[in-house]
Amino acid sequence: MPVSDTTSATDERGLAQAIRRCFHHEFAPAKAAFLQAAAAAHARLESLTCPATGPRGEALTIDAAYVGPADARKLLVVTSGIHGVEGYAGSAIQLDALNAPWQAQDVALLLVHFVNPFGVAWSGSNNEDNVDLNRNFVSFREPLAANALYDEVDEFVCCPELVGPLRNVADAQMTSYVDTYGLERLVRAVCDGQYHRPGRFNFGGARPTWSNLTLRALLKQFTPSATHIGLIDVHTGLGDRGASAMLCIEPPDEAAAERAQSWWPDTLVVPSAAFPFAPRGTFVGSAWHLDSKQQMTAAALEIGTEPPERVFAALRNRFWLSNAGAVPAEVVLSIEAEMHACLAPRDDTWRTAALASGRQAIQRALQGLSVRQT
Ligand SMILES: [Zn+2]
Repeated sequence: MPVSDTTSATDERGLAQAIRRCFHHEFAPAKAAFLQAAAAAHARLESLTCPATGPRGEALTIDAAYVGPADARKLLVVTSGIHGVEGYAGSAIQLDALNAPWQAQDVALLLVHFVNPFGVAWSGSNNEDNVDLNRNFVSFREPLAANALYDEVDEFVCCPELVGPLRNVADAQMTSYVDTYGLERLVRAVCDGQYHRPGRFNFGGARPTWSNLTLRALLKQFTPSATHIGLIDVHTGLGDRGASAMLCIEPPDEAAAERAQSWWPDTLVVPSAAFPFAPRGTFVGSAWHLDSKQQMTAAALEIGTEPPERVFAALRNRFWLSNAGAVPAEVVLSIEAEMHACLAPRDDTWRTAALASGRQAIQRALQGLSVRQT
């Protein structure tokens, strides 16, 4: 079981060793380490092959590992990589959980590794359909309202140039927009998700994507007996560097919000007027409704990295790359390196903070599950 909240010298030494064992920055070594640790933990494994391949034509998979009794009533689910390259932190947290002896006798553990394997392998955020997977968990049976705020920023956010006169104009327009309306409005415009402009920034898709369908099928497959589920979906890039927050998105009622609050009391954030970040179509926002017979407690673990202006610039340039034709290799490498710098930092200080955040989130969820009656 992960360490308790009490930090000791032993814990710190353990963390230093764990960051060397658990963090990777390429798809294949991260996946291999996950499978190896899962096998050592006697996990039940499932691998599903993505319809798209990696940069070297290699097969890409979502891998799931289930540790514990097959008929467990209580289950903790940890997911990584829904936003592609952000997945290296989630992968490390999952590996760390597998490497520790899993002592929660009556709680099973389900780890879903690299939910968006295409985004991980291509150092991107979107999936193989150029869809933001974490805006794809909506009901497509009814027409989705257009995001009018997004229309205000589409032209300059999706500038066809990386550098040049058009880009200079677009950047000036964006600066003017922020000066007039504030950064918060830009963040909402580009983060809330949009469904009326396919191929443009933050598009949530027109139908459930492969990763969406696969993830939901895996949850169904591995949770037939579970009555109480805790869910942590790991992300990076939001918040102060190394700081963490649990984002509780779209809780269905007061009881669900209060339960999440009691699990993660000092880090939980529920979007509100004070924190108007309310994206549609997130996985954790949809998780409440996966199975009406199961009591769900879900949140996204967000680990901060760089200032929002820098993170957004990296995402915007990576989005440009997805739509560009032939691009010189050094430009591709520099855009990908900035994505890693902004969403998968490699310094020990950040990695230590990220792993500690993951341990704490998992520990608190286990405590929360342990007091639930079956
Ligand atoms: Zn994310």
